[in-house]
Amino acid sequence: MSIVDFIVIGRGLIGSAAARHLAIQGTSVTLIGPSEPANLKTHTGVFSSHYDSARIVRILDTLTHNCQISKAAIERFKPLETETGISFFQEVGYLAASNTNNFLEDMSAQADSYYPEVGSFSFEQLSERFPYFQFPKGVRGIFQAKNAGWLDPRKNIAAQNKALENHGGTVVNDTVIAIEKGKQYITIKTEKSSFKCKKCILSTGAFANIGNTIPRPIDYGVVPHTAVLGEISKEQLPSLVGMPTMSYRLGDEPNKFLYFLPPVEYPNGKHYVKIGHALGDEMAKDKQSLQDWFHSNGDKGKIPWLTEALKELLPSITFNKFHSVPCVTTTSPSGGNYIDQFKDERLYALFAGGGYCAKSADELGYIATEFALNGGFPAPYNRADFKLIYQ
Ligand SMILES: Cc1cc2nc3c(=O)[nH]c(=O)nc-3n(C[C@H](O)[C@H](O)[C@H](O)COP(=O)(O)OP(=O)(O)OC[C@H]3O[C@@H](n4cnc5c(N)ncnc54)[C@H](O)[C@@H]3O)c2cc1C
Repeated sequence: MSIVDFIVIGRGLIGSAAARHLAIQGTSVTLIGPSEPANLKTHTGVFSSHYDSARIVRILDTLTHNCQISKAAIERFKPLETETGISFFQEVGYLAASNTNNFLEDMSAQADSYYPEVGSFSFEQLSERFPYFQFPKGVRGIFQAKNAGWLDPRKNIAAQNKALENHGGTVVNDTVIAIEKGKQYITIKTEKSSFKCKKCILSTGAFANIGNTIPRPIDYGVVPHTAVLGEISKEQLPSLVGMPTMSYRLGDEPNKFLYFLPPVEYPNGKHYVKIGHALGDEMAKDKQSLQDWFHSNGDKGKIPWLTEALKELLPSITFNKFHSVPCVTTTSPSGGNYIDQFKDERLYALFAGGGYCAKSADELGYIATEFALNGGFPAPYNRADFKLIYQ
């Protein structure tokens, strides 16, 4: 059996990006992770945060650090689409809408440096520019027209994996069950086989602390999210062309902060708009609790509220049907992402620190690659901002 330079465990958005960047740098790479289960309701293995067709893409953010990471990641979307022939990014723009000044001020605080073209909309201008949305009086907005919109996470991963193979890497559809650290190399045992490598990057998302992969449990929370999808008939789509993605905050109650995705075609050929809650409380993160959550249709208490919010936002739309889905985001105590080495320095951690890393995944993968290959963090990043916190 050949020994590769790197094995990346976790074929999600971030692990897939890291594997591609490692291969671009000329190292031998194997990326291991299971494909999306055929039936989520009966699946008993690991789950992921990307079993969906749309995630918001934006540069605007309250923190400089997040703007830097997402801007750099988004700049690579079009080249990756061109290289692979897989289209995953729709540049329909991003709107932040709220009746509170602090949210809009916070979201535009970094705009001078990262998106100076940001547009501001009064209540009247919002209604004129985005006539399909109905906002309560007092809502205003800021708009990022370019390098913003949504990405299809499944297609993004397909593009990352195809590019990895173009650069000589290998993709393995399997689940890791153990990591054995030998003196000369590391053996990665999977359900179906085993592999050897010199170094290994762990990027297993919400399942970071589950199974026998992590050398030492990390301080990493899991937040359950419920999203409601409203099916839209094909006849109604022309009136919604150019509809942006949105963060929508009415008042200051964090549990009522919403996000919105415009019509997106899902693998079943139907088009859905989606609404979900941006924040939430952590859940138990043992394997059984996560599986039970992913087997559910989301939080029954939140489904009627989200459905009503969607109807109120789009009063001119007649929905064919609504359904709800469960998902999880991951959190670190500081809200930062983890890119670090474990005590055995051949093992690296690469974990998202918040529920907004689909858009940033490519840059996180790049930073991890630079760290793993060169021992340092590329400018403008600081190692201290990505340090692991253990349980
Ligand atoms: C409802 C919801 C809405 C969101 N909205 C947005 C948004 O609008 N914009 C945005 O940027 N982000 C958004 N996110 C966040 C984004 O989806 C996550 O930040 C991103 O998926 C994290 O990527 P990841 O690679 O860390 O994790 P994942 O995508 O979950 O990938 C981890 C992978 O590890 C694999 N794995 C686990 N254990 C093992 C093992 N033992 N062996 C092998 N593989 C293993 C899993 O199968 C999985 O594929 C949202 C998330 C949710 C849930």
